[in-house]
Amino acid sequence: MRIQFKGAAQTVTGSKHILTTKNGKSILLDCGLFQGREALNTNHNKDLGFNPEDIDYCVLSHAHIDHSGAIPYLVKKGFKGTIYCTEATKDLCEIMLVDSAHIQESDAAYRNKRRSSDKEPRVPLYTIEDAKKALNQFKGISYNKWINIDEEIELCFTVIGHILGAGAINLKIKENGKTHKVCYTGDIGRQKHRIIKNPIPFPQADYIIAESTYGNRLHESLENTEEKLLKIVIETCVEKKGKLIIPAFSLGRTQELVYALDKLESSKKLPNINVYVDSPLSTNATQILKNHPECYNDDVIKYMQKDDDPFGFNRLH
Ligand SMILES: [Zn+2]
Repeated sequence: MRIQFKGAAQTVTGSKHILTTKNGKSILLDCGLFQGREALNTNHNKDLGFNPEDIDYCVLSHAHIDHSGAIPYLVKKGFKGTIYCTEATKDLCEIMLVDSAHIQESDAAYRNKRRSSDKEPRVPLYTIEDAKKALNQFKGISYNKWINIDEEIELCFTVIGHILGAGAINLKIKENGKTHKVCYTGDIGRQKHRIIKNPIPFPQADYIIAESTYGNRLHESLENTEEKLLKIVIETCVEKKGKLIIPAFSLGRTQELVYALDKLESSKKLPNINVYVDSPLSTNATQILKNHPECYNDDVIKYMQKDDDPFGFNRLH
């Protein structure tokens, strides 16, 4: 078995790792976009570093674009196999990949408008149509269920926290009568998550490929962060009579913020303020969160017994 790292090595975006078995089967673990100004200006994403036609299966850990965003390009360039992920990840990719395609298209249009006539027109990496086509190859599977993806490869997702639908990818690969166990963690969530289930230990593995972005940092407890948020809200919106603008990731952070504000309001700590979420992508992601209660942790389930609108659907402006 061979492991190759085609992204997220010496950088934190563009996750792509290829496992090739002795019998020549290739499994692509994640297919993310390189993000940031440098990636945009250098066209870094155009060179995948491998031939998509040589890949048999793609397995996706979660829906963040730095892990999933190059999938439409992979399919456009000839990948014909199945893309395995959890059911919630599949639902999230339906909005995330179309949104990413929309960004690629508008970015190309904007640059072409300002391009000097001696330069080649910018072509989007992939279009909305490409993204929709790629979605047909997705297969959502439940957590904690081993499935055979072929006669020598078994796959199971276990809860890893991080965002809705994220899963550690556990593989059993049969080679020459021996079974090798491999775990690719994808992004690892905090020990305690505000909304979704906390990470659980993944099955014993012979090889572990682990994300380590915050490996050298201790995160604050959730209780501290809620109190800090409240203090900032009071200072900004009440004492200074200002507006608090919080940039937040559409998937994950926005829902956590709204949920934290809802809890502060329920406990009568939040001053009387209006809350606005200015992002259709966030609202769509929240709708998907609403459709997957099997992913909620016990605190949210308990909280929902007294508050049936924890993500602010009826209350938000
Ligand atoms: Zn992530």
